[in-house]
Amino acid sequence: MIIIMLGAPASGKGTQSAVVAQKLGIPHISTGDIFRWNIANNTPIGAEAKKYIDKGLLVPDELTINILRDRIEMEDCKDGFVLDGYPRTINQQESLDKMLEDCGKSIDMAINLVVTDEEVVRRISGRRMCKCGKAYHIVTYPSKKPDICDLCNGELYTRKDDTVEVANTRLDTYKKQSEPIIGVYMEKGILVDIDGHNPQDKVSEDVLYEIHKYSSKQGVV
Ligand SMILES: [Zn+2]
Repeated sequence: MIIIMLGAPASGKGTQSAVVAQKLGIPHISTGDIFRWNIANNTPIGAEAKKYIDKGLLVPDELTINILRDRIEMEDCKDGFVLDGYPRTINQQESLDKMLEDCGKSIDMAINLVVTDEEVVRRISGRRMCKCGKAYHIVTYPSKKPDICDLCNGELYTRKDDTVEVANTRLDTYKKQSEPIIGVYMEKGILVDIDGHNPQDKVSEDVLYEIHKYSSKQGVV
């Protein structure tokens, strides 16, 4: 079963992808993780990708799709995988479709975690970090004492990427580049919208329910 996880920044894609992968016993694939692994292990693809990343440039689509192809042709992906954070543009969506077709595969479901703009901004701008690595959220996961870490009494800070301004910029980019993909998968009849505002466990339950419904209809998994 091949599942694509879609949604705005901070919609919970990573978390839900991990849950689905674990429940279905299939790999959770994120292109970011694959690049980091290849760079850490000094592979030829990693060296190629690093040239762009070091200059602050985006890794070209062709390189990304090749690296992804290598990954999904591994033995552990033979029963499927969950793809998280890819595709992000219509071009990537088209190259992904073509690559899967070349491999004799196709996407079963595109799960779209729906959250409002206000919620995205609230989630991103409410994050607070401690230098010990512990993360908080002023609304959903506050520290016991304001701005003080529960674990080490350190002072909490806001990462420079977690401001309202940065959240709005990320949201704009998402709408321009990524949102059109949702329409494509809807036309293909494989899109499932899930309310991403609920608590994580409830979102997981809804996602797994839809997957189960789909699998019993298709006789897969
Ligand atoms: Zn701390």
